[in-house]
Amino acid sequence: MKRNIKIDFNTERCKGCELCTTVCPNNLLTMSKHLNKKGYAVACITNEEECVGCYSCALICPDLVITLSEMEA
Ligand code: SF4
Ligand code: SF4
Repeated sequence: MKRNIKIDFNTERCKGCELCTTVCPNNLLTMSKHLNKKGYAVACITNEEECVGCYSCALICPDLVITLSEMEA
């Protein structure tokens, strides 16, 4: 059964380090053009429905920006 994962970014904590973009097995993470209040370009997800819920992005982020939640199918 396909998992229904929701990813949230606490963008005001993001420092634009791009670490999360290097670990996604499906290359779903990218940097947006949106700048947060500190002036950093923040990470975002392109095709959330392709996320396999591996948690790699959430675990590697040094600033606890990314949280995953599994939704009811
Ligand atoms: S949880 Fe895994 S598959 Fe989903 S966006 Fe993060 S690194 Fe990619
Ligand atoms: S690893 Fe965290 S701080 Fe770095 S770009 Fe990704 S979300 Fe932002």
